[in-house]
Order: sequence, then C-alpha cells, then structure tokens
Amino acid sequence: MTARMIDGKALSAQVRDDVAVRVQALKKHGVTPGLAVVLVGEDPASQVYVRNKAAACDKAGMLSREIRLAEDTPEEELLDLIEALNQDPAIHGILVQLPLPGHIDAGLVIETISATKDVDGFHISNAGLLMTGRPLFRPCTPYGIMKMLESEQVALRGAEAVIVGASNIVGKPMAMLLLAAGATVTLCNSKTRDLGAQTRRADVLVVATGKPGIVTGDMVKPGAVVIDVGINRLPSGKLTGDVEFDGAAQVASAITPVPGGVGPMTIAMLLVNTLEAAERTLNT
Ligand code: NDP
Repeated sequence: MTARMIDGKALSAQVRDDVAVRVQALKKHGVTPGLAVVLVGEDPASQVYVRNKAAACDKAGMLSREIRLAEDTPEEELLDLIEALNQDPAIHGILVQLPLPGHIDAGLVIETISATKDVDGFHISNAGLLMTGRPLFRPCTPYGIMKMLESEQVALRGAEAVIVGASNIVGKPMAMLLLAAGATVTLCNSKTRDLGAQTRRADVLVVATGKPGIVTGDMVKPGAVVIDVGINRLPSGKLTGDVEFDGAAQVASAITPVPGGVGPMTIAMLLVNTLEAAERTLNT
C-alpha cells in the first residue's frame, strides 16, 4: 500500500480563507479581531514563527501586534505588559512565544494571560475546560490535527488512537480531543515499554516527540492514518518529522508530510481561535 498524502498546506489555505470571510462579517459589526504576539529574546526559530503568525493574521484581515522584548527583560515587565494586553479591547488573543529565557517562569506568564484571550489554549483553566469536555480554546496543533482527520473523513468513534509524546501542548490535549471524539486512546511517553507494540495497534497514530525517525514502517499498522507532528532540523539543514516517512508511507493509508502537514494547520487554527475570541465579545 502507498499512503495518500494529507495536504496540510491546502487545507490550511481553505481554513484561512474561511476565517477571512468571517473577519469581514465581524468588521461590519465594528470589531476587528486582534492578536498580540510577544517574543522575548532573539531565538532565530522563534523569530520565524512570530513573523509567520503575524503575517497570517494580516493576510486574514486581522490586526496583529508584534511585541519584541530584549532577552534580559525582567519577568515583572513581561507580566505588566500581559496585564495591559488583557485590558486592551483591541486585542482578543495574546500569545507569548515559547521557550522563554531561563529567568522567566513560563507557567506564571501563561497563567497571567486572561483565559478568555489565551488563544494558544495553554492556560490551566483552558486545560481544565478541555479535560471536562467544555473547551473554550483548543490548543492549536491538536485542534489542527482534528480538522485534518475530519477533512479526511477518518472514523474516530471506537477507533484505536495511539499518541506518542505526552506534552502539555501537543500529546495531552490531543488525547482529550480524540477521547471526546469517541476514540480509545493510548498516550505513550519516554518510559513506555515496547513502543512498537503500542503503535502497531493504532488506527490513528499521532507522533509528537521531537525524535526524528522514532516511528519506523514496521511500527505502523497496515491501513493506519499517521500524523507526524515532529519538526526536526537535520545536520544537513533539511527538515524532517518524527516518523520515518518512506517506510511508514508503504504501510499507512494516509500520512502527513513534514514540512507541509501539521505545521501550516497550527497557524491556521491560531487564526480560528483569535477570530472566535473576537466573535465572543459580540455576545457579551
Ligand atoms: P516535548 O519535548 O515537550 O515532549 C516530548 C514528548 O515525547 C514527551 O512526552 C516525552 O516523554 C515523549 N518522548 C520522548 N522520547 C520518547 C520515546 N523514546 N518514546 C516515547 N515518547 C517519547 O515536545 P513537544 O510536544 O513540544 O513537541 C514534540 C515535537 O513536535 C517537536 O519536534 C516539536 O518541534 C514539534 N511540534 C510541532 C508543532 C507543529 O506545529 N507542527 C507544534 C508543536 C510541536 P516524557 O513525557 O516521558 O518526557
């Protein structure tokens, strides 16, 4: 079997077009969705992410405010900035690009963002709401993956879903969303014994570890849908995922490429979350 390629780039363009239409509708009510993206320091990868997020916002007709702070910015100053953005009616979504410099407590920063503007969905209240089945903001990467599975018409009710990687931003919220969709979920971490025995049961396999090639073709169930979240830069400069693509594509029914799979969907869902935060202000 040679897997069908799930085109995250094309689907994300469609999502962004839909967002742009809804932005125009909202503007007729006098509201322009606004996203503040805060970057502390000079990390080159973070600079690219922040630029891409702001550009996607502008393209969808939203307001984007990029705020760059020096690497040695005191924690207090960042917290004050977030408090000001919480109060700013032109800003509906606040995103602080991670990782933060070591002297800043990332947990405290995230908890300072108003839960109603937490478009990354990382605030403890939003994690709790997601866990109890009443999500306000779904974290963008797992939300984008659910959108992909929906667009591919993957049946999730009763399906075996295995997630490799259990971080707060990808693996755990992914588990909650798949569970809510009726899948039987297995969440693996670095201590999991015999990873292959777990992954070979998966009708839907999501891999998010940051370990290139951790999942090989022989670890994939024939006909499975494989979602590769990993973004790893090889010494050659080439970007690669966590799944050994050529081997897995021989066995899977559908697979996401890296790049061009999950990555573009993450940005598209950030726009959706920001738009929905702005739409909610009309009803309050
Ligand atoms: P983290 O480092 O926060 O978490 C990695 C997870 O993988 C941990 O739960 C860890 O287990 C688990 N893990 C590590 N080694 C193994 C192993 N041998 N077997 C099973 N599980 C293992 O990473 P993130 O979740 O933040 O990111 C994961 C990858 O996804 C990265 O490559 C990142 O760049 C990418 N990413 C891509 C995004 C996109 O938009 N496409 C968005 C976000 C991330 P333990 O808990 O035991 O430590």
